[in-house]
Amino acid sequence: MRYVSTRGGAPVLSFGEAMLTGLARDGGLYVPEAIPALSADEIAALGGLDYEEAAFRVMRPFVGDTFTDAEFRQAIDAAYAGFGHAARAPLVQLAPNHFLLELFHGPTLAFKDFAMQLIGQLFQIALAREGRRVTIVGATSGDTGSAAIEAFRGLDNVDVFILFPEGRVSDVQRRQMTTPDEGNVHALALAGDFDDCQARLKDMFNHFEFRDEVGLAGVNSINWARVLAQVVYYFTAAVSLGAPDRKVSFTVPTGNFGDIFAGYIAKRMGLPTEKLVIATNQNDILHRCLTTGRYETSRVKPSISPSMDIQVSSNFERALFDAYGRDGRAVAQLMAEMRDAGGFTVSQGALETLRDLYISGRVSEDQTLATIARLHETTGELLCPHTAVGVAVAEANRDPSVPMITLATAHPAKFPDAVEKAAGLRPGLPERMADLFSRPERVTSVPNDLARLEAVVQERRRR
Ligand SMILES: *Cc1c(COP(=O)(O)O)cnc(C)c1O
Repeated sequence: MRYVSTRGGAPVLSFGEAMLTGLARDGGLYVPEAIPALSADEIAALGGLDYEEAAFRVMRPFVGDTFTDAEFRQAIDAAYAGFGHAARAPLVQLAPNHFLLELFHGPTLAFKDFAMQLIGQLFQIALAREGRRVTIVGATSGDTGSAAIEAFRGLDNVDVFILFPEGRVSDVQRRQMTTPDEGNVHALALAGDFDDCQARLKDMFNHFEFRDEVGLAGVNSINWARVLAQVVYYFTAAVSLGAPDRKVSFTVPTGNFGDIFAGYIAKRMGLPTEKLVIATNQNDILHRCLTTGRYETSRVKPSISPSMDIQVSSNFERALFDAYGRDGRAVAQLMAEMRDAGGFTVSQGALETLRDLYISGRVSEDQTLATIARLHETTGELLCPHTAVGVAVAEANRDPSVPMITLATAHPAKFPDAVEKAAGLRPGLPERMADLFSRPERVTSVPNDLARLEAVVQERRRR
């Protein structure tokens, strides 16, 4: 299995190389050259398997010869062993034909653990084998950073630096990043918003001298291995509800488009999927783009669902690549327009392709709070604000005859202020994290300046 860049100008890589590289050298994102399919029988056979075995079968065709079957199985088993639920990704019913897919039972209580825990295991195997070290630098709106730190803390061949927007993440999110005391973990509070963090990260990757000197590796949601790990739970959830004999739809609270793009990959692999619904908060660039055809950034408006406070949706480039018939030159041109003019217009043909696959909706802050309150009253479930955005958009866009699966992307205890404001009830942290607020914090404030950031990384990394 070979991987190509969405901008058509970077070397073709193996799974392992694409995983360790992250962003392609032409600024693009790696995607598989072709999408392998599972037959209806193979999909049906996933029913009743444990999560780990289903994960192996869904992901194996993408991995090629980077890992042996035994190595890959061992990585999967280790990745999910620390989850707080035997099913890993259990389904809960909200209403007739509306289900919640709980993706928050991992060590940092958000769906990002599914990919990050696996990537941590895979990096460790690949780096040890090659006797290589890497410096991971990541940008986070809150959940990626804590998941990355949790996955890489204490690993021999990895230093991990996480940039987060100072004052824009919840206390639980911040403490999950600042309390691990391993010497290879560095939480950096950047003076700016998430898009600034993401922009500086891209600058580091595009500064090839720095990139090669420190062995820069990316684990942001643009990393293909992360998208792949997220494909699995689309299959396990759909099969629980009767796939491949019954179609289902998914609603996905969306920011960087990584999670919902995994749903698209599942569909391309043969999972019968009726609709993929994009749910956004007031930072609605994706909803505006699907509605008007114009992809245009504006300032980020901080919301109560901060992990979706994004105006540049990185993985959308992968969707555009396919919608433009895999024309890397066309994608490179759109991205250049984005850089120079702050936006671009999607061609009519590509827009029609996107509208066939995705529908979208946007939810206000008030609607989000009202949804948390109402679902608590009618079902007893406490939703995190991101999940509430998903549920509200799902309710507005569903066909009652098709099972709707809304992805619950974080545990309510990760965002206790918003949940308490809405439902009058403060969700408690699971037992295993009860001491989070008594551990000392370690964090470095950094300016929104590339040279200063690079200096911090060079100085702190181990050699
Ligand atoms: C990251 C995140 C999202 C958005 O996921 P994308 O893959 O960036 O679209 C939604 N909800 C929560 C809780 C998250 O952490």
